[in-house]
Amino acid sequence: MPETKVKKEEDFHEWYNEMVELAGLCDKRYPIKGMNVWRPYGWKIMQNIDALIREEMISTGHEEVYFPLLIPESFFKKEEEHIEGFSQEVFWVTHAGDNKLEERWLLRPTSETAMYPIFSLWIRSHSDLPLKVFQIVNTFRYETKQTRAFIRVREIHFFEAHTCHVDFEDAERQIEEYKKVAERFFRKLCIPFIFNKRPDWDKFAGAYYTISIDTLMPSGRTLQLGSIHQYRDNFSRPYNITYEDKEGRHRYCHQTTYGMSERILGALVGLHGDNRGLVLPPIISPIKVVVVPIIFKGKEKEIVERCREISNRINQAGIKSVVDEREETPGSKFYDWELKGVPIRLEIGPRELENNTVVIARRDTGERKEVRIDDVVDEIGKTFESIDQHLYQKAKEFMDSHIVRVDNLEEARRYKGFIVEIPWCGRKECAMKMEEELDVKTLGEPLERNVEPNKLCPVCMERAKTIIRLAKSY
Ligand code: ZN
Repeated sequence: MPETKVKKEEDFHEWYNEMVELAGLCDKRYPIKGMNVWRPYGWKIMQNIDALIREEMISTGHEEVYFPLLIPESFFKKEEEHIEGFSQEVFWVTHAGDNKLEERWLLRPTSETAMYPIFSLWIRSHSDLPLKVFQIVNTFRYETKQTRAFIRVREIHFFEAHTCHVDFEDAERQIEEYKKVAERFFRKLCIPFIFNKRPDWDKFAGAYYTISIDTLMPSGRTLQLGSIHQYRDNFSRPYNITYEDKEGRHRYCHQTTYGMSERILGALVGLHGDNRGLVLPPIISPIKVVVVPIIFKGKEKEIVERCREISNRINQAGIKSVVDEREETPGSKFYDWELKGVPIRLEIGPRELENNTVVIARRDTGERKEVRIDDVVDEIGKTFESIDQHLYQKAKEFMDSHIVRVDNLEEARRYKGFIVEIPWCGRKECAMKMEEELDVKTLGEPLERNVEPNKLCPVCMERAKTIIRLAKSY
């Protein structure tokens, strides 16, 4: 079977760059760097991922909204840390035709500053709370680092949930709910991850604290897939989001957000793909089963008829399948569908026609087996479950086997391409020193503080308060 020019295990980034275009996910020839064209196949997969997000949001009581893309400068400038964090990344709109605008507008880099002035109008009393909304939109950030399809782009397909609560405790309960949402959602996509509490110097601009959702890519670099933020009343004060409590007092709301992006698709490509192409988890694959007729002279018509019959049967069971009736060799059809990552291929030739069977081939392991026509729908269901388990286990084993706990920098140096856990006193200077010495970035702390007693911070040699996770990251 033909394979990609570049091997995944030899040069992951080259392989990735080649794969996203070969598989028909995006076209990188658009003349603005970091703004790629979504091709139909890539967009379908993304829409299927979005559908899973919507399902989670609806089941946890969120409502979908759509706020304008443009934000007036006066809205944006209310929360100081937020402005500072984003000011170098925003695109400004200054003119309409030849006329200079009275006030500059910016393209949303995220939607706090578009939504919150409006939330302050929507929320009046405690009975309006909690407010739980989300939107799936494009956001814009001027990236100066090297761009990479789905992973680092300037126009970002983005999901953001925003909530308002009566107090800090209720907002904390929301954070717990988001942690569960993330667990369910990423498990469906067979993507393992770890939560990291970001250090104060690297939290979201304006947040009280930030929990990031990080996975480890085969390159040995971590990829942040999303984040959950506790804002406390940091935004509700400048944006004046208040409510009247039961005693008639006016109080500030406490807020949270949960964000994710098209990086999820980047993770799917990188974690599950191989040298033949994408390997998609069945749940988000636009086509779940492809039926390939193995034509034999004199039997053409019967074989194609049988393929259509089987495909109909599968579609009626609610599983999207297609028959590949193109005038190509079976070999080149196999190649195309493997590249697209379709989870199951069925083959029907004269032998199967005769025996009333089909051959089921799995994309992930390449295994093939012959099953009776009457069992085909059941077998597909079982195979989907098995593919889902296999993809998740494989990615999880890779991640787990690349997290290592060490006591000092000497030891840490031996683990290139790993997530290293190391005792830490909690001081920024010490973390910075570790980043520099090891040429890595701070991911943050595990959510549960865990460090053995008597461990020392390897930089200042004082008693460690926790462990810190360090890795190379995107
Ligand atoms: Zn220290």
